[in-house]
Amino acid sequence: MSAPAPYAAQPQHTQGRQHPEAAPEGRNEFQRDRDRIIHSTAFRRLEYKTQVFVNHEGDLFRTRLTHSIEVAQIGRSIARNLALHEDLVEAIALAHDLGHTPFGHAGQDALNECMREHGGFEHNLQSLRVVDFLEQRYAEFDGLNLTFEVREGILKHCSLQNARQLGQVGERFLDKQQPTLEAQVANLADEIAYNNHDVDDGLRSGLITLEQLARISIFSRHLSEVKARYPQLEGRRLIHETVRRMINAQVRDLCAQSEKNIAAANPANLEDVRRADALIGFSAEMQREQRELKQFLRQHLYRHYRVNRMSSKAQRIIRELFDAFHKDPLLMPDEFQARAQEEPARSVADYIAGMTDRYAIREYRRLFTVEELPL
Ligand code: MG
Repeated sequence: MSAPAPYAAQPQHTQGRQHPEAAPEGRNEFQRDRDRIIHSTAFRRLEYKTQVFVNHEGDLFRTRLTHSIEVAQIGRSIARNLALHEDLVEAIALAHDLGHTPFGHAGQDALNECMREHGGFEHNLQSLRVVDFLEQRYAEFDGLNLTFEVREGILKHCSLQNARQLGQVGERFLDKQQPTLEAQVANLADEIAYNNHDVDDGLRSGLITLEQLARISIFSRHLSEVKARYPQLEGRRLIHETVRRMINAQVRDLCAQSEKNIAAANPANLEDVRRADALIGFSAEMQREQRELKQFLRQHLYRHYRVNRMSSKAQRIIRELFDAFHKDPLLMPDEFQARAQEEPARSVADYIAGMTDRYAIREYRRLFTVEELPL
């Protein structure tokens, strides 16, 4: 691995942890954060949380766990190419979705709606809440006590009102500064990962077809390339050969454009990075192609009537669980009841957001189905 660039984040120069700890031995500060994330309860729950398709719809679809691992893989490749700190990108990538509700975006929208009068619900902020507070594993502090750099990377965006209440990690939104290049990489690696795996999962589910996708420029370009080279190829292999070329093209475009941006801004150190515009980004042409693909996915996959049905059912489950627990916090496990005395709605949101898809469905049955014993 080449030496990190002078503007890369350096674990030995971290802005530190909320509860001071001695430096780790045998690994650096960002590696310690990554290890804490992997050993957390919230990380294991990602296995049973929806990306687009509800977990029980099929064993081969992405879940939040496999999604997060793909983001880490793509992010690390980019970081290595740009001489940035791979461990920091990896830690941010593995933690970025820890605060996601069950049932994907449908679940988050429903919970946000339930929380409208109580400060709202936002999954980015919830991921930070998980690592700062909700994980309870260590003797000396709540949460995972991660470094500032991982925490700011998790908090991709945030309202100014929330930023004011977050202390140091919210300051950049008020000062209009950028996070580390590693955080910027993790953010775009997320986008590359989901655009491509949603194409793959969408095709596998049969909700979208190759014929439809052949009208989308980035897909058709790579599909033609594969067909020219392997005229007999069809089925899963044809799809995978196309999708892997798309990922590669996006990663390479991102690296090339970001190198240009960095060369033009010429940052001497991380402080210069924070004051500059965002330096990690796609070329204008790739941005256009990404937009086209996203629009296609929104229209034909995320809003497909069968996905809508799944979302509508999911939202009903979240709403009814929220109402039941909010009306009677004694229906929640002890630890959430205790917290409900101070912040009832927030405690319910924490409980629901932590649920996996199948746990939420089970809770729903336990509470509302006559045949189920309420235990
Ligand atoms: Mg994500």
